[in-house]
Amino acid sequence: MSKQKFNIITSTCVPLPIENVDTDQIIPARFLKATDKEGFGENLFRDWRYDKQGQLVKDFVLNDPRYRDAVILVAGRNFGSGSSREHAAWAIAGYGFRVVISSFFADIHKQNELNNFVLPVQVSESFLQELFQSIKEDPKTEVKVDLSAQTVTNLATGHQEHFEINAYKKHCLMEGLDDIDFLVQNQAKTETWEKNRMSVMKYVVLLLSFIICHLSFSHAVAQTGYPITPVPFTSVKVAPGTFWGQRLEASRNVTIPLAFSKCESEGRYKNFDNAYEHLKDPSKVFKVNGVGYSFDDTDPYKTIEGASYILQTYPDKKLRAYVDSVIDIIGRAQEPDGYLYTARTQNPADPHHWAGDRRWVKEEDLSHELYNLGHMVEGAVAHWQATGSRKFLDIARRYADCVVREVGPNPGQACVVPGHQIAEMALARLYLATGEKKYLDEAKFLLDYRGKTTIKNDYSQSHKPVIDQDEAVGHAVRASYMYAGMADVAALTGDSAYIKAIDRIWDNIVSKKLYITGGIGATASGEAFGRNYELPNMSAYCETCAAIGNVYVNYRLFLLHGESKYYDVLERTLYNGLISGVSLDGGGFFYPNPLESMGQHQRQAWFGCACCPSNICRFIPSLPGYVYAVKDKNVYVNLFVATSSTLEVSGKKVSLTQQTNYPWDGDIDITVDKNAAGTFALKLRIPGWQKGQPVPSDLYRYTDNLRPTASCSVNGEIVNVTPTSDGYLTIERKWKKGDKVQLHFDMEPRVVRALDRVAADRGMVAVERGPLVYCAEHPDNNFDIFSTLLNQEPTFQLGKAEVAGTPITTLITDAQSLDFNKQGKLVTKDQTLTLIPYYAWCHRGSGKMRVWLPQDLKATTPAQPATLASESKVSSSMRVPALSSINDRLVPRDENDRSVPYTHWWPKKASTEWLGYEFAQEATVQTCTVYWFDDGPWGGCRVPKSWRVLYQDSKGEWQPVSGADHYPTLKGTPCTVNFTPVKTRALRLEITQPDDFSTGLFEWIVK
Ligand SMILES: [Zn+2]
Repeated sequence: MSKQKFNIITSTCVPLPIENVDTDQIIPARFLKATDKEGFGENLFRDWRYDKQGQLVKDFVLNDPRYRDAVILVAGRNFGSGSSREHAAWAIAGYGFRVVISSFFADIHKQNELNNFVLPVQVSESFLQELFQSIKEDPKTEVKVDLSAQTVTNLATGHQEHFEINAYKKHCLMEGLDDIDFLVQNQAKTETWEKNRMSVMKYVVLLLSFIICHLSFSHAVAQTGYPITPVPFTSVKVAPGTFWGQRLEASRNVTIPLAFSKCESEGRYKNFDNAYEHLKDPSKVFKVNGVGYSFDDTDPYKTIEGASYILQTYPDKKLRAYVDSVIDIIGRAQEPDGYLYTARTQNPADPHHWAGDRRWVKEEDLSHELYNLGHMVEGAVAHWQATGSRKFLDIARRYADCVVREVGPNPGQACVVPGHQIAEMALARLYLATGEKKYLDEAKFLLDYRGKTTIKNDYSQSHKPVIDQDEAVGHAVRASYMYAGMADVAALTGDSAYIKAIDRIWDNIVSKKLYITGGIGATASGEAFGRNYELPNMSAYCETCAAIGNVYVNYRLFLLHGESKYYDVLERTLYNGLISGVSLDGGGFFYPNPLESMGQHQRQAWFGCACCPSNICRFIPSLPGYVYAVKDKNVYVNLFVATSSTLEVSGKKVSLTQQTNYPWDGDIDITVDKNAAGTFALKLRIPGWQKGQPVPSDLYRYTDNLRPTASCSVNGEIVNVTPTSDGYLTIERKWKKGDKVQLHFDMEPRVVRALDRVAADRGMVAVERGPLVYCAEHPDNNFDIFSTLLNQEPTFQLGKAEVAGTPITTLITDAQSLDFNKQGKLVTKDQTLTLIPYYAWCHRGSGKMRVWLPQDLKATTPAQPATLASESKVSSSMRVPALSSINDRLVPRDENDRSVPYTHWWPKKASTEWLGYEFAQEATVQTCTVYWFDDGPWGGCRVPKSWRVLYQDSKGEWQPVSGADHYPTLKGTPCTVNFTPVKTRALRLEITQPDDFSTGLFEWIVK
C-alpha cells in the first residue's frame, strides 16, 4: 500500500488540541479540525499536521487535488446541534469530491450527542486497506465499506469502540442522482443549470398537458375566497443570481437535499417503514418512546412541500422521482381507514408517550395528530399544484377524511381541537384544492370549539373563544398559524367576527409585540409572546417558524383588506427576522433569532426538534408567490424582486418583468411584456420605510430628520408618487407591450428609536437602510461593540463587502468606545463602526453582535478593566456551550437571567466536572465567587450538589485549597469562598452535579 497513491482525508471534527494526537499513526489519513467553533465552510478544512521538521502546519486542503480520492468523515451523530459533520460533508461535496463516506457512532457517548461533542477516532489499518482496494478497483464508483465489524480507537480515551458506517452518498444524497456533482457549487453547477434551461421548454409542454389533464378531473375551487387573488408561485420566476435567486438556489442545492438526508439519517423514514411492517404483520412492533417526537412525520411532509415549489422553478426529474419514492414510503404507513400517525401505528399497544393510549385522547396535549395532518395537507396540495400528481394529495385526503369522521362535535366523535394549530389553514387549503366543503366545515369546527373544550390556556390560545381574543398570547408559532387559519376560513365563509378578532390581535402585535426585525415571540419560556412592550434583545426568542407565521398572517390580512401596511410588516419580517434563520449557503439554521449576542449563538445544521429547518425548506421556495396579487383590474406589486411573471387580469394574460437590485438600491424597472387585458391599474407599494413610518404603529419612529424621496416615470414621463389611501401608487392606463415603469426610492440609512415603554431599547437606536435592519458584528469591528456610543447626529457611508461569498452593502459611521481602565477611569476612544445587514450575522464564527446601539450616555455599557479571570485561558472537563461566558465580567440579576450568557452541562447529570483558569503569570489568590445558573422548576439545571477549588502546585499536581470557609450553593446571589492565600499558575473549579439535574454557571470571579 502506497502512502501517496490514495489521498484520503479523515475529518475527525475534533475539538481537542491536535497536539494530543500522533498523526503519524494515522497514515495516510489526515486530521482536519472541523469544529463549529471555527466557523463553517473553508474553516472546516484546515489540515493540521506536522511537517518533516516536526512543525505544526495548518493548510487549507480542499483545493489540493492530491486529496481528491476520498473523504472519510468520522463524526458523531447529532441531536441538538450538529454543524460539523453536515457542513463538512456538504462543503466537501461542493468541492467535487468523488467519494464521501460518513461514519457515525452507534451508541456511545449519548450525553455528548447533545453537545455535538465529537471524538477523534483512529480507523484501523485493515479498514483503510479495504477502502483503498475498493478505490483502486474502480475509482469512479461509490465505495461502500461495512464498518460495523470494524474496531476503531477513540483517541481521546484510548478505548476501542465499534461504530457503524453510513455511506454518505447513499444515505445523505437523494437517490437516483447520477453523482455527487449535483452539489458542486461552481463549474458543474453552471453546466447543470444550462442543461436544465435547455429542458425547461420540454418540461413546460409536459406540465401544461398535466395541468390540462388534471383540470378536467378536478373540482377545485378557483377562488381563495379572498377579495384579492394571489398570483401563485407557479406564475412567477425569480431571476437567477439575484438576491432572491441566490436564496432559491441555496434552497435547491443545499437546504432541501440536507433536509431529505436528515429525514433518512435521523430515522424519519424508518418510522414510516416500521409502521408499514406493523400493518403487514401486527406481531411486529417497534420501540417508539425515547426515539423522537410525535411530530417527526412532519419533517418529510414539509420537505416535500419545499421540493415541490423548487420543482416549479427548477424542473428536475430525479428530484421528482425521489419525492415520489418518499411519498410511497409515507403512503405505506397509512392505516386502512386513513389514519396516518407513525408514533402510534408502529406500536399501538405502547405508542409514543405523547400519543395517548387511543386516537385523539392526547390531541389537545402533546400528540400532534392534527398537526401532522396539517403539514401533510400543506405538502400534498403543494405537490399536486407543482406536479399535477394526485398521489400525495390522495393520501392526505384519506387522512383528512378519517379526521372528518372521527373528530367533531357530534355524538361518537372526539370533540377536540388541535394542541398545535395548522390543520385549520391546511383544511381550508384542502377545500380549495378539492372543492369538498366538509374540509372547510372541519376547519371551522376546529376554530369555533377552541376555548370550549378541555384545553384552556394562553399557551395554545385556547384561553377564550377565538372571536373574543384581542391580544397575541402564548406560543407564537401556534398563534400565528391560528390567526392565518382564521383569515382563511373567514375569507371562505364570510365570517366577520373572525376578521374583527384578527384585526384586533394584529394591532396588538404591531403596536406592542413586534421586534424591529419583524420577529415575534419574545420569550423562550413557552416559545411565546411576552407582555406588551416586553421585547428583550439578547434573550429574544423570535423563532424562525414564528417569523414565517408572521408572514402568513400579514399576507392574509393584505388579501382581505388590500392595504400596503400589511406588506410593510411582511417585508420587514422577510428581509430581517426570517431570512436570518437560514445561512446564505442554505445549510445553517437558527431556531431563535436574537437581536444581541455575546457569542453564545451559533447556526446549526439541524435540530432534534427540526421545525425551523424544515419550515425554511418550504418557505423560501414559496417566495415567488408573495410578489404579486390581482383584484379585478388592479395588479398589486407588493415585493420588489427580479422576476418574470405571467398573471391573469380579468381572465386575460399580462406578462411583466421586474428588474431590480433591491434591497441594495431603490431602483425598480417594470416592463410590460404582454397585455391582453387592456386598461388596468398597476398598484406599486410605497414602503412604510419610504413614507417615514418604520411600522404601521407608534412602536418605532425615525429620529433623523431625513425626508427621502420617491420618484416614478412611465416611459420616461414623470408620474406623481402620492399614494392612494391604501398605501399604493396607482397608475391606471391602457398598458402596451414595451411600456416601462421606473420607480426609484432614496435609500438613505435611517436611525430608529423604539417607544420609551420598550425598556430593552431605551437610549438606543437601530439603523436601517431600505427594508434592511443593520447590526454591529465582531468581525467588522476591532473593538468591543458592546462598549459603543453612537454619535448624536450619526452620518453613514456605504461600503461593499462579502459575507459567505455573497455581496452586501455595509454602513460605516463614526462612533466612540467607552472603557474603564485599570484605575477605574473612563476612557473614550474614537472608533469607526461598521454595520452589516442583520440577516448576514453569524456567518463568520460566533462572537458579539448587537442591533440596538446606545446613543444616550445612560444606555452605554463601558468595558470593564481586565481581571485575573478575564485574562486567563479557560478550559473544561468536557465541551460545554458558551465557555467564555464564565470570565466575560457579566454577572446576572438573578439565577435565571437570560440577558447574560451562561454555560451548563445539561443534559449530563450526577457527574463531577471542572472548569479551569490558567493565569498569564503566577498570581496569589484567596477568593472565588461563583454565580450559579438555575432554571427550576421547569428547566434542567440546578445549583450543584457541592463544589470546591483546586490549585496547581509547583509540581503541576492539583491540590484542594486549604482553609476554605464554606462553599455556598445559593440561588440568585454571589457565592463566595475565601481560603488561605495560595500562589499558583492555575485554578480549577470542581463541581459535583445533583443526581437528577445538571448544573450551570454565569460567572467565576477570582481575586
Ligand atoms: Zn421552529
